[in-house]
Amino acid sequence: MSCWKAVRLVLTQSSGHRHSMEKDYVGFATLPNQVHRKSVKKGFDFTLMVAGESGLGKSTLVNSLFLTDLHKDRKLLNAEERISQTVEITKHTVDIEEKGVKLKLTIVDTPGFGDAVNNTECWKPVTDYIDHQFEQYFRDESGLNRKNIQDNRVHCCLYFIPPFGHGLRPVDIEFMKVLQDKVNVVPLIAKADCLTPSEIKKLKERLREEIDKCGIKIYQFPDCDSDEDEEFKQQDKELKESTPFAVIGSNTVVEARGQRVRGRLYPWGIVEVENPSHCDFVKLRTMLIRTHMHDLKDITSDCHYENYRAQCIQTMTSKMNADKRVESPIPILPLSTPDVATEKLIQKKDEELKRMQQMLQKMQQQMHEQDL
Ligand code: GDP
Repeated sequence: MSCWKAVRLVLTQSSGHRHSMEKDYVGFATLPNQVHRKSVKKGFDFTLMVAGESGLGKSTLVNSLFLTDLHKDRKLLNAEERISQTVEITKHTVDIEEKGVKLKLTIVDTPGFGDAVNNTECWKPVTDYIDHQFEQYFRDESGLNRKNIQDNRVHCCLYFIPPFGHGLRPVDIEFMKVLQDKVNVVPLIAKADCLTPSEIKKLKERLREEIDKCGIKIYQFPDCDSDEDEEFKQQDKELKESTPFAVIGSNTVVEARGQRVRGRLYPWGIVEVENPSHCDFVKLRTMLIRTHMHDLKDITSDCHYENYRAQCIQTMTSKMNADKRVESPIPILPLSTPDVATEKLIQKKDEELKRMQQMLQKMQQQMHEQDL
């Protein structure tokens, strides 16, 4: 008798008095609840990167998005300091909790881009940073303790486009192109309060055209499931039509229509950050936090990280081909005097490595045979 049949039989026998529908109920319908409980207990993490020219409101927007002051200790540089400044990446982590759900949010800021006189390869430190996180993850995944891996991979990069130009500048095209295969790029029109609604509309159209023409791969919102409700479908449609989001940031709370709101106070009026008729801030926040955070993480893991991993393995194999000697593919960190348990783990690891090496050799042989 198959295992499945046995389970059904036991269930049927023990619950004979129940309703006949329940006889077939094994209980795996609770799986989503189990997953939910486990992930809530573990907590979530999300890493967001902001990139673009200095002074476009990156830090202000991030503060507005997560209602935190991530940059309160930031030292503002004078013009001279900024010109000599090389691109320096800063990372801020905050633990946020909402209705018992914990989120470890990491913001990676890339200040300084565009300040330096020489902007050749200004994207290099940014791509190096992303690669470094992948490398660390790859190393941890192949290490001794795989249970508690800290995932620092960058899940999304908000790329700020200035509102003043007539479209993408060469530096924007170059920057987004080097990022596109490493991270989910979400382009934004910065400081949208500088533009009238019709100017925003025109600039958006132009940017969409240029992104298409230049073959820039930005983050694509997944298609909506056909069984979703109409309201969700409409929201999804509006989201797609609004890209690139035109955003406004503010660190101050002002009084508008008798309410205290995040906004910018001008002599001629108030710009409200969270007013959908003023800008796309709410759309961006909804997308990042409420609707697409999980998808951004999935694509990072299934697409960008997989690309990196495949490239790594390929490089290792070709290196082995060239060297004709088998090296440990993953650098092993030195361990201090190992105890019995550690020795056992090392032994296990050694065996794992041996298996990997055999696998690589097999692959190598197969490739060789294919070449012939
Ligand atoms: P970052 O260098 O890109 O991080 O830019 P900051 O967030 O430090 O902002 C630079 C300046 O632009 C500050 O004076 C902000 O108050 C201002 N700023 C930020 N966001 C906006 C915005 O949406 N509209 C306008 N007009 N100014 C903004």
